[in-house]
Amino acid sequence: MIPRLLPFLLLAFALTLTAELRDIHILQTADVHTQLRPTTHGTGGLLAAATVIRQARERLSPDRTLLIDCGDTTQGTIAATLSRGQVGLLPLKLLGYDVWVPGNHEFDYGIDTFLDFMRQTSDIALCANLTVRGQPPFRPWTLLTRNGLKIAVIGLTSSYMRNWLLPADAQSLTIHNHRTLLPKLLADIRTHQPDAIILAAHQGWVPNTDTRGVNDIEDIASRFPEIALVLGAHTHRDFPGTTIGHRTWYLQPPPHANAVAHATLTIDTDAHRVVSVTSQLLPVPRNTPHDPELEQALLPFIRQEQHERQRLLVASLAQAIPSRGIPGTSCATSELIATAIAQATGAAVVFHGKLSNHELPAGKLHGHDLHRLLPYDNAIVTATLTLDDIQTILNEQLKWRRHYSFNGIYGATATLNPATGQATLTGLGKTGTLPPDTTNAQRLLVAFNAHAAAGSGRFTALRAILAQPQANTTQLNLSTRQAVENFLAKHPNLTLTPFPWLQ
Ligand SMILES: [Zn+2]
Repeated sequence: MIPRLLPFLLLAFALTLTAELRDIHILQTADVHTQLRPTTHGTGGLLAAATVIRQARERLSPDRTLLIDCGDTTQGTIAATLSRGQVGLLPLKLLGYDVWVPGNHEFDYGIDTFLDFMRQTSDIALCANLTVRGQPPFRPWTLLTRNGLKIAVIGLTSSYMRNWLLPADAQSLTIHNHRTLLPKLLADIRTHQPDAIILAAHQGWVPNTDTRGVNDIEDIASRFPEIALVLGAHTHRDFPGTTIGHRTWYLQPPPHANAVAHATLTIDTDAHRVVSVTSQLLPVPRNTPHDPELEQALLPFIRQEQHERQRLLVASLAQAIPSRGIPGTSCATSELIATAIAQATGAAVVFHGKLSNHELPAGKLHGHDLHRLLPYDNAIVTATLTLDDIQTILNEQLKWRRHYSFNGIYGATATLNPATGQATLTGLGKTGTLPPDTTNAQRLLVAFNAHAAAGSGRFTALRAILAQPQANTTQLNLSTRQAVENFLAKHPNLTLTPFPWLQ
């Protein structure tokens, strides 16, 4: 027996000896949100992260390293607003990113600007699961060679995108469900015999608590185990590496370039198979030197931002406007925003919340203060609605009263029945009463910000009401921030006591 088996054993031994294991490295950023300088914690920021990226790439060897960004790359700072996102695209080119996957905030300047971003990055952008009406599909995946290995990278943006856009914009997007899309893509990818398949997504792994179904990662990992590594984003959580699904490795860096994610794939070159994945988050500590080349290239954006931060808006605001309390009842900042929107649009009723926890200080107000109060480039949306519509919207909002996305009512009074949690409109204007016909021949102009109006999958009744033709829903060419700036310029002596609309 033994002599007859020996040749086979020797052969197997020899095969084991020749099976070569090779490593490739993935460096990943996500949710940078154009944060160039360190955050308020003193860490992170892309200028410092660029130094970490370049050092890691040199140490690991550029021939063995891929650099990938998973989106929310063009929005989040004054520099982004002023350049309409361009400040976020420049580092992708300058640092030589191999792959870029767009995030939901890449739509904040409108679909045409999003398309422009995709054109500017057409050599590296991947987006398999979203197409825009009248446009050719984006590149869904790519095959990159490093260290003699073929690495397939699939790019997915947020599949929830339509819920964050107004119906008029959402209609022009088609989202391709991963359950039907990925089998086709993977079949195509297999014909190229890759050594590893990676998914780069602007979605996060949210086990069990993702009640709206915003993120598909858990489902993807359990259905498509041939994906060895998922690079996640969007949730602003960080994962230095964990197994999800059956055997998929999941990695996600924190937002604002507070760390760079680094995965090492060890690949059996004979079997074209990933043998192991390890990963870590490379910190971007306080006092990391800025990358001089990136800083030089971004200087025009940095100067513009500094100028805007220091721009004087109000010489002396009479009183601080705090952000404590609940919008629509006791929060001064949401009262300010709603009042400014009402004045800018002539709306009788405004639904608005607060978009940050920052307050406006008394005294000199600068561009910096306004951007902290209103960090998003939200446009104002108006619609003509009946009192029934307004009451329905108010009651839907009340379900989210403790949530950051809650919008209080301004311009109408209502009483809340604590037993049922339902509100009933009782008047219009600060001392007003309701018209006798409360079932509505009359329509009122009502205003929102575009993000609330889109519904986010939470405000489905609001979205349905705004989608009715008679609502005449219109997105204005005016941002919430501009409306507030205009209002403050006119009312520097403002003393703001929130009016308790909801009683
Ligand atoms: Zn996002």
